[in-house]
Amino acid sequence: MSAEPINLDSWRELPAAQQPEWPDRDELTRVVGKLAVAPPLVFAGECDQLKTELAAVVRGDAFVLQGGDCAETFAGATAEAVRNKIKTLLQMAIVLTYAGSVPVVKIGRMAGQFAKPRSSSVEVRDGAELPAYRGDMVNGFEFTAEDRRPNPERLLRAYHSAAVTLNLCRAFTKGGYADLRQVHTWNRDFVAESPAGRRYEQLAREIDQALSFMHACGANPSEFHTVEFYSSHEALILDYDRALTRIDSRTGLPYDVSAHMVWIGERTRQLDGAHVEFFSRIRNPIGVKLGPTTSPDDALALVRKLNPENEPGRLTFITRMGAGRIRDVLPDLVEKVTASGAQIAWICDPMHGNTFEAPSGHKTRRLDDVLDEVAGFFEVHRALGTHPGGIHIEFTGDDVTECVGGGHAIAEDDLSRRYETACDPRLNRSQSLDLAFRVAELYRA
Ligand code: PEP
Ligand code: MN
Repeated sequence: MSAEPINLDSWRELPAAQQPEWPDRDELTRVVGKLAVAPPLVFAGECDQLKTELAAVVRGDAFVLQGGDCAETFAGATAEAVRNKIKTLLQMAIVLTYAGSVPVVKIGRMAGQFAKPRSSSVEVRDGAELPAYRGDMVNGFEFTAEDRRPNPERLLRAYHSAAVTLNLCRAFTKGGYADLRQVHTWNRDFVAESPAGRRYEQLAREIDQALSFMHACGANPSEFHTVEFYSSHEALILDYDRALTRIDSRTGLPYDVSAHMVWIGERTRQLDGAHVEFFSRIRNPIGVKLGPTTSPDDALALVRKLNPENEPGRLTFITRMGAGRIRDVLPDLVEKVTASGAQIAWICDPMHGNTFEAPSGHKTRRLDDVLDEVAGFFEVHRALGTHPGGIHIEFTGDDVTECVGGGHAIAEDDLSRRYETACDPRLNRSQSLDLAFRVAELYRA
């Protein structure tokens, strides 16, 4: 234990990108004071357990499935929406577990994913200019002056919404809903109903047989009925995550107890910026998004700053290169970082490098591009002998029409039918399952 207290406010001296301009600083101070004494949402021991599981990913002995909305909303914290997401995530996980023959570490972009970085701080519509929507933690989605005004009170609502969501997640993953045979039955229904399902019949049948075999052997461990589930979000609004950082009584070390894992976004990973500084002080497992402009030196500098003791499981690089670039830019990055001896979990975000605008004006993504980036990710890691450690996706358990393609062949003209995202386009339930079966094929290739 270090005698010197760890300075958790050193980031305040540094430039912090993507922070809201709160109109009322006194109100912010008041809200942050309340958050600072609020109960933790997660416990340091749980964060350490996730870190141990991510260390297995670094070794090549586990695979990460991380996903959820681009932007959670307060209105979306319903039992039904959370159940559908958990259900889809569990369905994906069973397919990946079987195909990879390794444990799948399940991490939601859930229970805290309420803040968004934006490319412009304002939005102009029909000549009117208002602050951009920065997520429900900051302001409202409606294009009105009142809604778009950053309101610190929303930090408290974010905390409470995260608590409600995490409670549902814990209940759904511990309360019998996660029963392996039940989850497999849902997958069988998907295979039967999906136009693309035939392709997956063989794999589904194999899982069927494996489950029947274990059942016949009398194997019925608790792992068949409950799963470990972890929460994560982009820790963007530093006042929020700082206020929810606590000193762990066991070790005297600081943890951001708003989520098990937090990550730094592509727009806030400046080495001399406030986010990297803040993250260097907390002990959670952390991620950093790396886009196509990341040089090996950038990545190595992040390793030195964020994981100086080279602790496996502490640092995950989430690459988001785009399907067209991954095969060119990822090899050098992975090769040099690996050669340095850095212990890194590499996971693939096949969403954020593949966004485009449809003629209708909807932001969208093609499932085929998403699949191609994941395929490129596997190819690159296989060629280098490193471990393709997981995927990070934006999805929902509902039948939205936000991404094009998939078994139901959603076309650009269909997007307006059910386009509900508060930010980026998400894979719907069946596109997510398509992805899981296709990743399973890659895993076995
Ligand atoms: C996101 O994950 O929603 C996001 C904004 O990603 P990135 O930081 O990689 O652009
Ligand atoms: Mn997004």
